[in-house]
Formats: sequence, C-alpha cells, structure tokens
Amino acid sequence: MFQPKGKGVNISDSDIWNLAQTICQRSNLGYKHAAILVKNHSIVSSGFNFRSPISSRDLEVPWDIKYMEHSVHAEADCLLRLKLRQKKTAGGTIYVYGESRCGNIINSKPCKSCQRLIRMMRVYRVKYITPGGIKELNL
Ligand SMILES: [Zn+2]
Repeated sequence: MFQPKGKGVNISDSDIWNLAQTICQRSNLGYKHAAILVKNHSIVSSGFNFRSPISSRDLEVPWDIKYMEHSVHAEADCLLRLKLRQKKTAGGTIYVYGESRCGNIINSKPCKSCQRLIRMMRVYRVKYITPGGIKELNL
C-alpha cells in the first residue's frame, strides 16, 4: 500500500509509478491513465483520464481545450489541478502511466495536444510507461 510522504521528503521513481498505478484506477475509461507532476523530488500534482460531462466552456483555462470535450486526458487533468501559485512548474517532470481494463501496461506517450499543454506549463521532461519499459521524452 502506497503511503504518501510528507512535504520535502524525496520520492523515488518506483514510488511514483506505484502511486500512478493506484491513481489510474479512478479512471472511468477502459484505457486508464494517470499523470503525476514531480518537481524537486516532491509531487506537485496528479490526475487521471476520465469521460467528462462538462463542456470546455465551463473551464476557465487559457488554452484551447476543444479536444477535452469527450474525455479529459490524465496529463491535462494533472495540469488543471495545479493551483495558481503552483504554476511555476519549470524544471519539473511529468510521469504518465497507463493500463488496460485487465491491468496490462499500455503505451502512455502523451498525445500531441498534451505535449503542447505540458510544454506550455514549462514542463520539458516526460517519463512515460510502455509495454517495453519506461521511456523519456524531452519537449
Ligand atoms: Zn493527451
């Protein structure tokens, strides 16, 4: 069972992937994804993908999120949960995890829209899971 650590306590990559695996269970989609934003070895935000009943018009965000009308991607959910004061995310790393309904690891490379969103939030490093292992992407 994952125990969240206190502020300022370093978190390891394996802790992050374990947490992501737990978080993605909250998704109401067949392909479950979780995203965790980490900076200075501390978790800044996390999110998961879900089918959204809300329209993009209801969300006050500064970017074009038409693509979110049907499902919200985990990376977008993670970044939307950032409080304003936390938006200085430069230098952070976003971890993206995904698994199928039966628990098989799936390719979790962020889509082009999420890559753009991540870059806009000044996060330039992505670690994502694939059936072949963990991969890194520098945006
Ligand atoms: Zn995406």
